[in-house]
Amino acid sequence: MIKRIVSTSFGQAHSGGARFCVPRTRGSASLQKSAKLEGHASACPGLFKMLVSLLAFAGFTAIGYADLRVVATVPNMGMLAREIGGEAVEVRVMAPPNRDAHFLEARPSMMAALRRADLVVAVGAELEIGWLPAAIQGANNRRVQPGQPGYFEAAQAVELIGVGKPADRALGDVHPSGNPHFYMDPERLVEAGYALAQRLGSLELEKADYFQDNAERLEERVAQRMPEWREKTVGAPGVLLYHEDADYLLIRLDVPLLGYIEPLPGIPPTARHLRTLVSELEGREGIIWTMEYQPADGGRFLSRELDWPAVQLPSQVSMEGDLDEYFEMIDNWVNSLTATE
Ligand SMILES: [Zn+2]
Repeated sequence: MIKRIVSTSFGQAHSGGARFCVPRTRGSASLQKSAKLEGHASACPGLFKMLVSLLAFAGFTAIGYADLRVVATVPNMGMLAREIGGEAVEVRVMAPPNRDAHFLEARPSMMAALRRADLVVAVGAELEIGWLPAAIQGANNRRVQPGQPGYFEAAQAVELIGVGKPADRALGDVHPSGNPHFYMDPERLVEAGYALAQRLGSLELEKADYFQDNAERLEERVAQRMPEWREKTVGAPGVLLYHEDADYLLIRLDVPLLGYIEPLPGIPPTARHLRTLVSELEGREGIIWTMEYQPADGGRFLSRELDWPAVQLPSQVSMEGDLDEYFEMIDNWVNSLTATE
């Protein structure tokens, strides 16, 4: 453990803790004074102090000190960071699973987490635009500013749905850069995992192979589950979504997508829009999907009018959730389709 700390902290890769000490031949009066006090570490007082503090903490906070500090915006990104980063990362999640990440506000607790972070892992595609830029600004940590190696948007690694479609920001459309909810598709999650492995590897070079192995393991585990999900959803009824979000899962599994309860992403349904949906969908078979944090009344109304089942389930794992929990979440959505037959 101690060996790892020393190699990590004095290696070239750790962006958080690494400080490089260049021997000086001439120094300021204060530097000379501290050099004298620290005896043999005279050329490198900062290094000496770091060694002392590392040794003092090695017994009980070694892991926390040596790990890359990752701050994820939402629980699914925290899960991905844990799967790929494994024991080399310490992950904190900012947004709870039962809140809509489109509509959060920057909070002091987020800024506090970001202040110490080596890497922020966001969904991107403007999902967190209402709060992440403000939280990063408030954190005053250059390492995690957009454009820095410590800022990662998973959406940039995957093909998004709805990019380039007409989107009217003025009307409140929250998907002007395409649909950000790619994490509903396990295969896109794998692609994001490879990109994250690469980024983590660039921040901690000596662990690059380890991160890559973890991404490969994620791919294998997803590949093991996909056939069962595909098989279960053959012939499933179409799905009416509250919001443009589970599109990714439905398209992956070839399940028909029947429409949205929201007239535009982020805009609550009007009575008129609900009536239009009823007249369009009457007489067909279907099921209504609403995410845990979305209002249920529009779905309830349609469920009554169309005589369709309505299900409301989580689309994020819990704050500490792992891949098993993610699979369970996908299982629940898939099983909701088969239960109606
Ligand atoms: Zn959305």
